[in-house]
Amino acid sequence: MIKKETTTVDCPVPFEAGVDTSLECARNLDQTDALKHFRELFYLPAKLDGERSKCVYLTGNSLGLQPKKAREYIEAELSDWQDLGVEGHFHARHAWMPYHEFVTDMSARLVGAKPIEVVVMNTLTVNLHLMMVSFYRPTKTRYKILVEKGAFPSDQYAVASQAAFHGFDPKDAVVELCPEPGADTLETEKIIETIAGMGDQLALVLLGNVNYLTGQAFESEKIARAAHEAGAFFGLNLAHGAGNLLLQLHDWQVDFAVWCSYKYLNAGPGGIAGCFVHEKHAHSFDIPRFAGWWGHDKKTRFQMGPEFSPIPGAEGWQLSNPPIFQLAALRASLEIFDHVTMPALRAKACRLTAYMQYLLDDINTRVPGFCRIITPRDPAQRGSQLSLKFTGESKKLLEQFKAEGVVCDFREPDIIRATAVPLYNSFEDVHRFCQVVKKFAQAEEN
Ligand SMILES: *Cc1c(COP(=O)(O)O)cnc(C)c1O
Repeated sequence: MIKKETTTVDCPVPFEAGVDTSLECARNLDQTDALKHFRELFYLPAKLDGERSKCVYLTGNSLGLQPKKAREYIEAELSDWQDLGVEGHFHARHAWMPYHEFVTDMSARLVGAKPIEVVVMNTLTVNLHLMMVSFYRPTKTRYKILVEKGAFPSDQYAVASQAAFHGFDPKDAVVELCPEPGADTLETEKIIETIAGMGDQLALVLLGNVNYLTGQAFESEKIARAAHEAGAFFGLNLAHGAGNLLLQLHDWQVDFAVWCSYKYLNAGPGGIAGCFVHEKHAHSFDIPRFAGWWGHDKKTRFQMGPEFSPIPGAEGWQLSNPPIFQLAALRASLEIFDHVTMPALRAKACRLTAYMQYLLDDINTRVPGFCRIITPRDPAQRGSQLSLKFTGESKKLLEQFKAEGVVCDFREPDIIRATAVPLYNSFEDVHRFCQVVKKFAQAEEN
């Protein structure tokens, strides 16, 4: 039935022409899936039209689902607040004073970092600004920032406003990497050539990993090396990478990274974000940074002195005492990741995505060109997301999918993103989604 093969990439590509496209086959894949029980740890939304049957939720890349434990963990903090008042800072079951430390080791394992390199704080765009304060330090000649064309708008605003803040014209200072004519995604060699070409004008390379629109994952290690050879810093926006890809931020020599926790990490809407600062900068107390009391040396923080003395490592970039309820939700979620481990998740993710690609390819052989996958076909160059362009009007199609109980999302100008995440999506989910696509493909054909 399903043929397995191994390739040079970090996961097998298990589906090739001739395999069974039946629902029964999808159910068999679920039966033999070692991670199938983790679905039960989450609330799957009811069908969005109000019926109580479960929908096929393929937008875990946009807002992850609620871990059932999140409520229990938040309620524990509510009741400790009720019972203890201010004493909760020290005597809550999970004391609030060091609360952010309870997620440090789990966050470090998630992104391939040492504990001293990570901290959970603020929200993503805030952290991006804080990191650029420290790692975008332009001079008269070296002031350019290299980003992907069509980067997430918040990132575009952040880099443009940082350039302007330093007195540069963003149109000159911010340089965009564009795909070759006719291509949807970027080639590593081209990225590296561009970096080398910019040479000593280049101050910072900032990429999303995965790109939110195309689903392309970049070869961070190679690009980091090229950026450093040019004398620039290398930063990653992991909004779509954390909890999705296998990351080795420390080994890759990434200077800094930021991520949000409400997408793949399932910590709830607007959840608290993550931040990575490479160990090599842990004791760089002389570089500019915006400071706050929570980044101050823990031993002397409450002496309330006027001199800022930062904690070594990422924690030294903290500003405020953190939101405990958000941290509680994140704890509930990260415990699941820590239990499953990223390699196991990534292996299943590769299979789910390859299965989706296989079924969509099958539809395309029947109705040529109905659905074009713009995400790279090589599993090493993508995460769980597939970005799709349809011959029909995508916005309308999305609504039609929703009426069938399938939730994907739309991004301008014409892209539908479908993401099966390994913690709670099943092969049957993927099959149901593709059956819906098939239905509209056939309608198109007639
Ligand atoms: C989701 C996302 C953001 C969101 O930023 P917030 O500060 O969390 O609102 C930023 N950048 C990218 C690439 C994203 O995917």
